[in-house]
Amino acid sequence: MTRLAGKTALITGAARGIGLAFAQAYIREGARVAIADIDTARAGDEAARLGDAAFAVDMDVTSQTSIDAAVDATIAHFGQIDILINNAAIFTAAPITEIAREDYARCFDINVAGTLFTLQAVARHMIARGQGGKIINMASQAGRRGEALVGVYCATKAAIISLTQSAGLNLIGHGINVNAIAPGVVDGEHWDGVDAFFAKYENKAPGQKKREVGAAVPYGRMGVAEDLTGMAVFLASSDADYIVAQTYNVDGGQWMS
Ligand code: NAD
Repeated sequence: MTRLAGKTALITGAARGIGLAFAQAYIREGARVAIADIDTARAGDEAARLGDAAFAVDMDVTSQTSIDAAVDATIAHFGQIDILINNAAIFTAAPITEIAREDYARCFDINVAGTLFTLQAVARHMIARGQGGKIINMASQAGRRGEALVGVYCATKAAIISLTQSAGLNLIGHGINVNAIAPGVVDGEHWDGVDAFFAKYENKAPGQKKREVGAAVPYGRMGVAEDLTGMAVFLASSDADYIVAQTYNVDGGQWMS
């Protein structure tokens, strides 16, 4: 189980949820991981629990200064970055007639600009180093098709799928593979906000939306973060060298339903 031995990864939004599960899986596979997050305290706690293979990095993906500082700090600590996972994102939801411009701007700033400019900073390092690399962007089934009350988040994830195609084609000449993962619904702390939203707009009882969404997954249950780690390890490994600009569904069959 050391498919990533000798590799160093920078994972954004890794203080909790899917990003943290990716960090744990990468360390099990022999990698060293920078746990980058705006939630500095939690990133520090998780990195301390993971030991010497982990390093907590303060990072706000909406700030170019912060992106550059986080990339520099990771290189200073580990010497290199071989793998980037652009995982940090926020969820936002509102009926189309009620979307606020500031919510739209913040969601695009974190989910799309954050991904693009972190990818850019890390790709520049990978190109200068001359040893290629692997970049994984977090898309979503929400980027494959619209959802009535989730228009802005869906649009950000559609942008990630498109950006992955362009960046993948642009960077493969440098030996940098850019691909994406499109999960379906995944359990986690973010569901607190999702539940509150659907309680308001669809008159759901607490936990009701989550139960309904989970029951509709063809696999038979909602995903958990660990369902995604196999794909994240594979895309970061040399087994994925010939895979360019793709977005993979890991969704328990939701795309087909
Ligand atoms: P989460 O909300 O649990 O975690 C997101 C992390 O990003 C948090 O630790 C947060 O502090 C961090 N973050 C937020 N803003 C940031 C910023 N400006 N700079 C740096 N870090 C910031 O999210 P999750 O459910 O684990 O989702 C992880 C990824 O997977 C996201 O890209 C999400 O869109 C995608 N995804 C999630 C689901 C799902 O159902 N959970 C489904 C499809 C796709």
